[in-house]
Amino acid sequence: MNLGNWQLDTINGGQFWLDGGVMFGVVPKTVWKNVVQADDINRIPCANNCVLARDGTHTVLIDTGYGGKFAPLDRRFYSMEEGEPLIEGLAALGVAPEDIDTLVFSHLHFDHVCGATRFDDQRRRVPIFSRARHLVGRIEWEDATGRLPELESAYPLDDILPLYDAGLMMVVEDGQELVPGLTGFVTGGHTRGHMALVFESGGQKAAYLGDICPSTVHLRRMWHLSYDTFPLETRRRKPEWLARAADEGWWIMWNHDPRYGASRVARDAKREFVAVEARAKL
Ligand SMILES: [Zn+2]
Repeated sequence: MNLGNWQLDTINGGQFWLDGGVMFGVVPKTVWKNVVQADDINRIPCANNCVLARDGTHTVLIDTGYGGKFAPLDRRFYSMEEGEPLIEGLAALGVAPEDIDTLVFSHLHFDHVCGATRFDDQRRRVPIFSRARHLVGRIEWEDATGRLPELESAYPLDDILPLYDAGLMMVVEDGQELVPGLTGFVTGGHTRGHMALVFESGGQKAAYLGDICPSTVHLRRMWHLSYDTFPLETRRRKPEWLARAADEGWWIMWNHDPRYGASRVARDAKREFVAVEARAKL
């Protein structure tokens, strides 16, 4: 998709399957099963729709999926794809890891950050995007590395710290322009420092809302992830973001939607918001 000067592409960071219960929080299965089909162990299909953005000057990647390092047991648990789907997807568009100059993390959960490293021949984790500034919100960085017992299991520190040790990690502030035409905004909700990324060019906007609204079946206020650390914040902020997107005609990029990489949204009297002009990829 062209958005003014930006060429935006959906890149598959790896399909996986997550428990249907944790994907819809307090919404009972008797309700969500009418919308999404679960498998025989109650999992539902999820994508990792990463975003490649190029404007002729910058080559930007948003999030990295889960990567290629997980052990067979984990891979089976989540039915993860083999190999490094993200790297293959970039290569299919003629983009090498060294071409990425800016890598932005919406937040630092495993399915967003683990694709940024791979094992070297001594099984040490090394950065894949070795020439990119790796940007993350300051609060997210503090929570991910703060070793708070109640958050420790949420963040894969073994994968995060090598990026810092390589001197690639940089923290950014709420509302900071990351490159011209791309701004990061702290949404809170999913994690305290979770960021939405908004592209703007030629009078148009496209927003990556990350896990505050991960798919087109999460448009309703109460339909949010059990993984959310601050669910009330998600219930407040998500409708605000969707209302702006609907009223101003933004594109939304759905990071975990297995069917749609992008759509616009419209207000709906019954269902709060609905996806319109949905497309499989940007
Ligand atoms: Zn996620």
